[in-house]
Amino acid sequence: MTGSLAASDLSVRYETPHGAVHALRHVDIEAHPGEVIGIVGESGCGKSTLVTALANLLPANARIDGSISYNGVDLAKLDAYHQRLLRGDEIALVSQDPMTAFNPVLTIGDQLVDFQHHRKDLGRAQKRARIAAMLGRVGIADAERRMRSFPHELSGGMRQRVAIAAALLTDPGLLIADEPTTALDVTMEAQIIHLLRELRRDYNGIIIVVSHHLGVIAELCDRVYVMYAGEVVEGGEVDAIFHDARHPYTQALLACDPARFHERLDRLPTIPGSLPNLTQPPSGCVYAPRCDRAFAPCTTVAPPLVKLAASHVARCHAVTP
Ligand code: SF4
Repeated sequence: MTGSLAASDLSVRYETPHGAVHALRHVDIEAHPGEVIGIVGESGCGKSTLVTALANLLPANARIDGSISYNGVDLAKLDAYHQRLLRGDEIALVSQDPMTAFNPVLTIGDQLVDFQHHRKDLGRAQKRARIAAMLGRVGIADAERRMRSFPHELSGGMRQRVAIAAALLTDPGLLIADEPTTALDVTMEAQIIHLLRELRRDYNGIIIVVSHHLGVIAELCDRVYVMYAGEVVEGGEVDAIFHDARHPYTQALLACDPARFHERLDRLPTIPGSLPNLTQPPSGCVYAPRCDRAFAPCTTVAPPLVKLAASHVARCHAVTP
């Protein structure tokens, strides 16, 4: 089953002994089958909370408002049993550290058989044949030998390939890759980007790629949402975001991208200031304390989402269509 995904007015707060942390506020995103969607922003911007909510994996202290509709079903309102079913059958998550996805004392083959528990129509031999084919598809040679390996016997890049194979074995309609290359060196990173680009050719579902790495987003995605302090501050086609960014935060993020600097720098540029305290989010624009274009209404009035083009939006008082 493949269907469209839409988060509408989605907010998530974590109840903690120090008060509620408003990690996500009034987020609207949508994705359609065949699309690759990027979520980008600094650490702490809410991108991991967003995809954890989409994958129905929020911790027990999380409180959710708004809706997450997948193929017409509101995921936020499903009971735990149906959430688990959907996660196994329809939604797959590839995390930054694939080591956490695997049991260290079981072979890769046994674990990938278990990943297919929803395929009651297949026997063990058929499941192992699917695994061998899928490992080949993600570029792992000598699949039979790798199936007998334990996770610690594989390199980081190979583990990430196996994690992607494990996700695809469930035939998901929604594949979420959360910082899929962050733990890898540049060579491995290039290989995983190449693999994801290849896979999208014959994958009909939705792929969501979360990264703080602008190059990964530019290489892989059709559309991108830029997040800051729990809000989507800009969204649009990759080309519009990378060549016609309108929100001051997106512009600052692009200006600090290390890939833009060809000469050797003693220190990489950063955006001055820090994220606001999310136990007490500002009443005006969340970016105002760091914005060099802030003016009178910015600190008191929350900016509207301004539509700039068919799919290009920015949340800022200073932008006009
Ligand atoms: S609303 Fe104001 S403070 Fe916020 S990004 Fe726009 S100009 Fe800057």
